[in-house]
Amino acid sequence: MPSHKPVPMVPSSILPFAVRTIAAGRGARVLCCPECRSPLNLIQPDENEPSRLLGTCERCSKWVFLVELEPEWRRALVVELPDSEDIYRKLEQLQPESRNRDRA
Ligand SMILES: [Zn+2]
Repeated sequence: MPSHKPVPMVPSSILPFAVRTIAAGRGARVLCCPECRSPLNLIQPDENEPSRLLGTCERCSKWVFLVELEPEWRRALVVELPDSEDIYRKLEQLQPESRNRDRA
């Protein structure tokens, strides 16, 4: 059976991202955007993983990945996900020649 999975054309690159630990309101499950302090929309992509959430900000379109460290959300780990513009920019810095080659 042929596989239609995409094959990476270049070796994967490692981009830096910001990680921070935050103290949330006890049991409140309301977390604020690290960028603009608006409350994040919390999404649970996997119903079996209630402590792994994706937070999105309506105001500044920032996405964060949230991991619950302690029960009742007293402490959570927040990984800030870069937006696509950021990713392209950083990739270009890391692989200056790959962009032209891919799009030629
Ligand atoms: Zn925001």
